[in-house]
Amino acid sequence: MNSDSADIGLIGLAVMGQNLALNIADHGYTIAVYNRSSEKTGEFMERCRQKEPSGERVLGFTDLKEFTRAIRRPRKIVLLVKAGAPTDRTIESLLPHLEPGDIIVDGGNAHWMDTIRRDRELTAQGFRFIGSGVSGGETGARFGPSLMPGGSPSAWAELEPIWRAIAAKVDPLSGVPMEGAAPGKPVEGGVPCTAYIGPNGAGHYVKMVHNGIEYIDMQLICEAYWLMKQLLGLDSGAIGEIFREWNGGELSSYLIEITGDILGQNDPSGSGFLVDHVLDAAGQKGTGMWTAASALELGAPANSIAEAVFARALSALKEERVEASRSLKGPDVQPISNPAEIIDAVRRALYCSKICAYAQGFQLLSEAQKTYEWTLDFGTIAQLWRGGCIIRARFLQKITDAYTRDPGLKNLMLDPYFKDVLHEGQNQWRQTVAIAVQNGMPVPAFGSALAYFDGYRSASLPANLLQAQRDYFGAHTYERTDQPRGKFFHLDWPTPD
Ligand code: NAP
Repeated sequence: MNSDSADIGLIGLAVMGQNLALNIADHGYTIAVYNRSSEKTGEFMERCRQKEPSGERVLGFTDLKEFTRAIRRPRKIVLLVKAGAPTDRTIESLLPHLEPGDIIVDGGNAHWMDTIRRDRELTAQGFRFIGSGVSGGETGARFGPSLMPGGSPSAWAELEPIWRAIAAKVDPLSGVPMEGAAPGKPVEGGVPCTAYIGPNGAGHYVKMVHNGIEYIDMQLICEAYWLMKQLLGLDSGAIGEIFREWNGGELSSYLIEITGDILGQNDPSGSGFLVDHVLDAAGQKGTGMWTAASALELGAPANSIAEAVFARALSALKEERVEASRSLKGPDVQPISNPAEIIDAVRRALYCSKICAYAQGFQLLSEAQKTYEWTLDFGTIAQLWRGGCIIRARFLQKITDAYTRDPGLKNLMLDPYFKDVLHEGQNQWRQTVAIAVQNGMPVPAFGSALAYFDGYRSASLPANLLQAQRDYFGAHTYERTDQPRGKFFHLDWPTPD
């Protein structure tokens, strides 16, 4: 094998690495690949030979030194390995074979603080580092993911042509994802769903917030489904039809689309709909928790994102819930006389809550950029989520439009379009939350989003009492409404009359 014969290298041949490597090869690049366990490299090379039209552009290696020798200098090497310690181990094993100026691109789901650390350590040794969020799962990696790179600007200049080529594409006029890619046949033209996000951990942070938003987006859909099932007694197939109809309107998105498919799916190994036989205990891999933890740390009110994580945690207590259901009683479910009206109210509640969830996500990004000294372009971030990723939605174009109208927009809810939607939808949203509460049905996502809306639009909140309580027991001081901000008072409570 000639040295310098590959345009780029990739380490990690599990599901993401294999698919991203083939995507890169489909776009005309020669790619060297390596995996810690050599059997996987062998299996993948067999797949390339047998089935993949661009397989001849994939060069497989079982020796790390040979792998690095095959890549043109300065080398670009993408890592798609397990996040955390395995990424550090992989970088450690790679470094002795690299030269100053070479570029390592971590495409795993790294914690942004790890990315900040790796960027610092590698830069100090003369290497260049990019931490790139990759969203869209297996299919996205294969035919066009949403890519969120952060790190060395000079490294980005070299990586950019490849990242733009392999990213998902959206139609330049409508912003709708361009479909139709097949092995060896990528889509032509379109606006790529990638852009430089910022230095060090910015790309991985944005990817993490994307995942946090994904958690709440999914939880909102689940609550809409649950209300239609439990309150209205509709079967899964009928609810699937409603989601299909909603997908034709303002809620149009990948998650609404797949929800329609999922609810309509018959059980291949039994009777009825498959979803009715799926155990109601949710799993999680941690990026939602990271988002909620970061929001708590930065003091950003991303309450619905946190609720979505807690909702999964509560669902996972399946056995405990089953036991509790025998002793803790709620109200009887009241018959509904106006189902069409309720379905429409749930649709409105879903859209209004979704606006609040995204408002929380962008508010969190806004706090993070101050803390980590990034300058994030919110309109661009919304733009590169329009295709490839799990939260892709028609609605994201509205977010880009909002930040184009006003780049300094403090909160998405204040944009004229979103404000109108919230004003028009709030009565039905309140009706949905009220009816759920009256009937004893948990709606943490709908309810917390409404609390966020009501809290944000309140000039006064009961935190006056809270500050007085803090001063009473802990001499934490308080500010006064009749004095300038920043002037603090303390009282030796209670004073005699
Ligand atoms: P994965 O199961 O997360 O990771 C498997 C890869 O990591 C294999 O190449 C494995 O090598 C390597 N690895 C595991 N432990 C290692 C260690 N201690 N030292 C060195 N290498 C080690 O695979 P994946 O699902 O394809 O994901 C790859 C990355 O993309 C992850 O960071 C993941 O979080 C991220 N991601 C995944 C998705 C998705 O939908 N799956 C979406 C976006 C991002 P061996 O074969 O030798 O064990």
